[in-house]
Amino acid sequence: MNRIGQKELFLLDMDGTVYLENELIDGAKEFIETLISTGREYVFMTNNSSKSADAYLEKLKKIGLPANEGNIFTSGMAAAIYIKQQKASPKIYLVGTRSLKKELIEQGIEVSEDGSGDIDFVLVGYDTELEYKKLEIACDLLCNGVPFLATNPDVVCPARNKRYLPDCATICYMLEKATGKTPFYIGKPRKEMAMTAIEWKGSSVEKTAIVGDRLYTDIACGKNAGVLSILVLSGESTVDDIEKYGVEPDLICSSVADITPNL
Ligand SMILES: [Mg+2]
Repeated sequence: MNRIGQKELFLLDMDGTVYLENELIDGAKEFIETLISTGREYVFMTNNSSKSADAYLEKLKKIGLPANEGNIFTSGMAAAIYIKQQKASPKIYLVGTRSLKKELIEQGIEVSEDGSGDIDFVLVGYDTELEYKKLEIACDLLCNGVPFLATNPDVVCPARNKRYLPDCATICYMLEKATGKTPFYIGKPRKEMAMTAIEWKGSSVEKTAIVGDRLYTDIACGKNAGVLSILVLSGESTVDDIEKYGVEPDLICSSVADITPNL
């Protein structure tokens, strides 16, 4: 636990870690307030690339957790940073929502409307506004050898009433089947998600901890990036799951409330 005290940046999962659906987890508010009062930075990280940071800010505000634009990091933002690391003045073709497109343009990425000209990457997100025409253009570009990127490897997105909806990886499967090309995924558990968030905040691997309730996404992301990983048992994973998934967190807490006294 004493390793927590040395950390300056906390990468936080949301659902199952600071809230459960619409209810704050006990001690989560105090945890965030202590991060602020001790001068730490924190970033809420989400693999969902269909919504903009604003949508998460609204939710956090409603639930009573302090956050501003600098505290939200989506896999779409991670993709933007990753793409800029690969290529100066990049031009991409996007299979994604209007809000993701806006976010990418704000980050300085040119987003082609029709796939014409020199395209550096095809980027697929969790496109809740998917149209066949986009798949057609993406398919042609991939067949012509344009590199294939995707924001997040989630197959399904959990929805209300125990429903599951096709997420980014399911959209990618269509293109994979059609073209034989496989995407490079950027969101959790890929190390790129943590590394781009660290770069965004100007911090370092050594000064960063990741906190989450899912072993195979949050904790695996921390392990892959080499940052201190803290599993909270307030959400999905149980201690028994550690053996099942073969992902060993550095620390285990019953909830974020256990972290607060160590800050
Ligand atoms: Mg979670």
